[in-house]
Amino acid sequence: MLQDNVTKLLNDQINKEMFSAYLYLDMANYYTQHGLDGFSQWFRIQAKEEMDHAMIFMTYLQNNDYHVTLEAIEKPTRSYRDLRHPLEEALKHEQFVTASIHAIYAEAMESKDYRTTEFLHWFIKEQGEEEKSATDLLNHYDLAGKNLFMFDRELSKREYHQPDFDFD
Ligand code: MG
Repeated sequence: MLQDNVTKLLNDQINKEMFSAYLYLDMANYYTQHGLDGFSQWFRIQAKEEMDHAMIFMTYLQNNDYHVTLEAIEKPTRSYRDLRHPLEEALKHEQFVTASIHAIYAEAMESKDYRTTEFLHWFIKEQGEEEKSATDLLNHYDLAGKNLFMFDRELSKREYHQPDFDFD
């Protein structure tokens, strides 16, 4: 049986992952408006992965006989000053999500909820990858300089892969 303080944080994390998806869809929308379909494609796929993350948290709670409550998803109200700005915000957002997952891990450790610490290992590793890809995106944007068109075409090649999370 999971601890109430931990399940509350896990339930909140579903909402944070769904908000991440919404934020990235908003960024995809922004790039479409600016004619950068590759950037848009990259963020659309990112949004799908975030929805997958939300599903994993939900399934974990359900598998542990917890009644999940879905809360309202916040409106992504950010406005962007230039084409680089969403990339900066995406990195900041991933750092925020990492901190959130680490906080659940710390609470689970404190509560001796070792099933949850084990479950969270996948997300801790995943966040390392998410922060790296957000950092790479920013660095490659800067390196691309005025050749944004070619970089945009490169990003359009990103393909969606369902996360390799295994509940067994
Ligand atoms: Mg995520």
